[in-house]
Amino acid sequence: MSFNNLGLSDALLKAISEKGYKTPSPIQSKAIPVVLQGKDLLASAQTGTGKTAGFALPMLQNLSAKQYTGRRKVRALILTPTRELAAQVFEDVKYYGRYLNLKSAVIFGGVNQNPQVNAIRSGIDVLVATPGRLIDLNSQNLLSLSNIEVLVLDEADRMLDMGFLRDIKRILSLIPAKRQNLLFSATFSKEIRELANGLLHNPVSVEATPENTTVEKIDQLVYRVDKGDKNTLLAKLIDEGNWQQVLVFTRTKHGANKLSEKLVKGGITSAAIHGNKSQGARTKALADFKSGKIRVLVATDIAARGLDIPLLPHVINYELPNIAEDYVHRIGRTGRAGAEGQAISLVCIDEVDYLSDIQKLIGIRIPSEIVEGFEPNNIPSEPKKNKGRGGNPRNNNSSRNSNSRNSNSGKRPRTDGAKKKSFNRSSRSR
Ligand code: AMP
Repeated sequence: MSFNNLGLSDALLKAISEKGYKTPSPIQSKAIPVVLQGKDLLASAQTGTGKTAGFALPMLQNLSAKQYTGRRKVRALILTPTRELAAQVFEDVKYYGRYLNLKSAVIFGGVNQNPQVNAIRSGIDVLVATPGRLIDLNSQNLLSLSNIEVLVLDEADRMLDMGFLRDIKRILSLIPAKRQNLLFSATFSKEIRELANGLLHNPVSVEATPENTTVEKIDQLVYRVDKGDKNTLLAKLIDEGNWQQVLVFTRTKHGANKLSEKLVKGGITSAAIHGNKSQGARTKALADFKSGKIRVLVATDIAARGLDIPLLPHVINYELPNIAEDYVHRIGRTGRAGAEGQAISLVCIDEVDYLSDIQKLIGIRIPSEIVEGFEPNNIPSEPKKNKGRGGNPRNNNSSRNSNSRNSNSGKRPRTDGAKKKSFNRSSRSR
């Protein structure tokens, strides 16, 4: 399959070729012809599949086919859950449309609205936005949504997870009823299906790849370790593997900060990225990580959503996510575009149930090993009597998790056949 057979204009083909894309990804071959025909689309695709070009290329082509004289009006609206994803999608839209007579802008919260308002005032065709800022500017009468012809909901599942359903419904009431709708989601819960049913008209459904095939391509590994030893083990892995670009996931913002500080103290350059950081700090951390100025980016799930870091060699789950689907999102950041990657999870006794949920979801048993010198003690690291109340308040979260989820706390743990390995994994590191 080649981009030339998809019905895209020369201007778009030139931009794609300059971007270095040689062949369309599966979601692109499937979605582009559907969107070009003006049909509604329901797409199952996560970050890393090339979904952005899948909707942006045909959308730009349709918009440029209908040029208007006079002042530009916002005709396409792309909604994303996070600022980072909005910024990334905007960059892609700008790049793909570089030889078209179209203008675009991006708006999101956490930064001064004036430059965004000025961009809108100057006249744009495509707007990339997070829901909150969009509603905000619209209610200040600084943004008209009455000419929208195409609506894209990108990472719709994450938008619902983040509590944006009300905002989405409000936005739907502000835009014309007659329009093309494109909905992208990595997972399909009951809520997403309800949203899709209310939104889409005779949609064509496309899937990026059957679920799991992406996951199978990634080299996955579990290290069983005690909670208190995780940061030393992580530093050792990074150091001895000489890893230069590592994305590490923690479950909490506080945990991300603490871990990043510990790494820096131990001489490993690092920054944390999460929802409590200012937009400036998040952008800087990501830029420093991409440029190689810092080796480790410690992120929470929500902050990491939408980060575009191509060909990431190492993803570490410092803590397993309590939602199994998040594991798939996390490790989807490695092994992109055919390149191999490695996803390592540091799993303590409190997390064995999460691990079992994840393995059920992906249908794979992840190989489990123990690093010499880091043998777990096989005792729950949260004292059971605390029960999440009256104990150390800093531990309340994980204590609650382990009590409600880990029914075998206190009993002999499952070892999941963990193999003991002396530490020599440099052959695996890339
Ligand atoms: P996305 O899933 O849209 O976030 O894209 C993931 C990454 O793949 C981005 O870095 C894109 O620039 C890149 N990409 C998208 N389409 C292609 C393609 N056809 N060939 C190679 N890389 C691509």
